Amino acid sequence: MAQKKVALACSVCGSRNYTIPANSNRTKRLELNKFCKYCGKYTLHKETR
Ligand SMILES: [Zn+2]
Repeated sequence: MAQKKVALACSVCGSRNYTIPANSNRTKRLELNKFCKYCGKYTLHKETR
């Protein structure tokens, strides 16, 4: 059975730098400060599908 995953995309450059396991109990979108290697700094990353 394939595990569902969602990507976290940098809100500045749009690249999908992280993938996390989807949590079916969670309904709202994740927004996390993560390091973007393309921007070279910590930026807001948003969950995509
Ligand atoms: Zn970026």
